[in-house]
Amino acid sequence: MRKMVSIIVPMFNEEEVIEECYMRLKNVMNQSGYRYELIFVNDGSKDKTLEKLDAIYRRDDHVRVLNFSRNFGHQIAITAGMDSAKGDAIVVIDADLQDPPEIIKQMIDKWEEGYEVVYAKRKERKGETFFKKATASIFYRTLRSLTSVDIPLDTGDFRLIDRKVCNALSSIKEKNRFVRGLVSWVGFKQCALEYEREPRFAGETKYPLKKMMKLSLDAITSFSDKPLQLAIYLGFMTSGFSFIYLVYVLMIKLFTDSTISGWASIVSINLFFFGVILMILGIIGQYIGRIYDEARDRPLYIIESERNKRKEIKRDSLIM
Ligand code: UDP
Ligand code: MG
Repeated sequence: MRKMVSIIVPMFNEEEVIEECYMRLKNVMNQSGYRYELIFVNDGSKDKTLEKLDAIYRRDDHVRVLNFSRNFGHQIAITAGMDSAKGDAIVVIDADLQDPPEIIKQMIDKWEEGYEVVYAKRKERKGETFFKKATASIFYRTLRSLTSVDIPLDTGDFRLIDRKVCNALSSIKEKNRFVRGLVSWVGFKQCALEYEREPRFAGETKYPLKKMMKLSLDAITSFSDKPLQLAIYLGFMTSGFSFIYLVYVLMIKLFTDSTISGWASIVSINLFFFGVILMILGIIGQYIGRIYDEARDRPLYIIESERNKRKEIKRDSLIM
């Protein structure tokens, strides 16, 4: 039997891009000659995304839809897609066509050469704000300097993974997921494919600052405990300074009789230490929050309904 490729597309309020996204993916896959399935994950959209997906599902047997009960986030949507994918290779792509579907063919070629992960690296990002580019650049570089896992720079979730890698990822039950980091972590033979990131086809980014912050924190805390070590370094440094200051204070006390008017220095030292302590507490809190998430062990996502023709057939045959 011909090999099968699963394409996973997470969607959150993407009504404007669905049709175009579907057409382009379909074209690419029809030309590729592989068997394929398109898995659209509706991540709790508030617009007409689900209706539009339903319409596509009814007319095309390649399409499956997973409908979340609420917005669980991009990374979780990808995970759900991977859990349900049936293909020998799995491709994750954004709905907004910033990642050109035409590159999938090249990814498949690399996969056939024997690579188990083919990730698309952004050479250039068109049509994105300076703020987005700058924060993204700082994020990837900070992450790299903090972690011991080799997470490639300027690489999003647009990538092809082999069935083996997909199984490995599904076995990781981590809650606050940073999928591209996990893909690096599981290893396997990986290679990069450079591409130019297009502007969004329509609509606005579904990653406001708040979601970007969450993603960065997840990424850093999942793959590094260096922030926790900050407490130790700062502790040593401030004790060093305090010791020197103590010597100075003792000298003044023992060898001079000038009265001490130390209000300013005491206030500033206090403020400084309170700042440091609160920061460290915040960092520790981040990690404790993650431990709490893991301990509660809630499911990663809840699928409210699924559109899957294979299952429909099964259900019908049960009735008969
Ligand atoms: N997305 C999602 N859930 C969310 C936010 C985003 O499934 O809570 C999807 C979105 O529909 C898109 C992909 O994740 O397919 C990337 O989002 P977007 O293009 O808005 O991010 P950007 O490219 O601006 O970083
Ligand atoms: Mg985008």
